[in-house]
Amino acid sequence: MKNKIFFSLFTAFIFLGCKTQITTIKQQTINNTPTKEHTIQSLLWVQNAAEYKALTYQAYNLAQLRLDQILANNDSEKPIAIVTDIDETLLDNSPYSGKQIELDENYTSDRWAEWVAEKKADAIPGALAFFKYAESKNVTVFYISNRSATQTKETIENLQLKGFPFADETHVLLKTKSSEKGSRRSVVNKTHEIVLLLGDNLSDFSSIFENSTTDKRNKNADSLHTSFGHKYIVLPNPMYGDWETKGIYEGNYNWTNAQKDSIRHKKTTSY
Ligand SMILES: [Mg+2]
Repeated sequence: MKNKIFFSLFTAFIFLGCKTQITTIKQQTINNTPTKEHTIQSLLWVQNAAEYKALTYQAYNLAQLRLDQILANNDSEKPIAIVTDIDETLLDNSPYSGKQIELDENYTSDRWAEWVAEKKADAIPGALAFFKYAESKNVTVFYISNRSATQTKETIENLQLKGFPFADETHVLLKTKSSEKGSRRSVVNKTHEIVLLLGDNLSDFSSIFENSTTDKRNKNADSLHTSFGHKYIVLPNPMYGDWETKGIYEGNYNWTNAQKDSIRHKKTTSY
């Protein structure tokens, strides 16, 4: 009998102990949501999945196919040009995303500047061969990126180190005041016929994607469906982008980690 009572008390003690522990862990998750841990699956995919590499090769193979078609039918009076984004389109900054997870910190201009100054970003698979091919066909390349214009020197050096053509101040157009890229595309358009655009973010292609909600972005993507793989070549980037900042978080940069976590869960679809 004594043993029975002891066993019951022991079991109750263990049960209550476990329950308290589970409650504590849940509370910690709610009150101490990590800043970047949720991005780890995206980073793992970019850095490890052969499918990611296959998709970037696919994008650049398609770009070359389209360029050949364009050159075969070219009757433009202006010289033709390709406009391309840089980050996650032809340079791989995934180690920066890795650092954010390691330090559990949001984007900061200082940390980003630290990474850019390293000039260590690798070429994305397929990118270098394509842009060299364009150069060999006398097609000019303009790099329109929202890296800060104060990072022009490091950016050009990184591009040069990797062997990208046209990596100079005339062809690398970084952000001065506005992140809106349409005005920089207009500058290129004055002297060149833009025949292909490459990017990982839809605002790399058209101004209709600037400052858009998830709903508008998707409707605009539907309206331009014939342009993708034709004039617009899209590279995959599940790590960050307007889809997240302007879409998921609706342009609000002041959410707490817990609020962001709640928003992320609300915006998933189950059945
Ligand atoms: Mg980009």
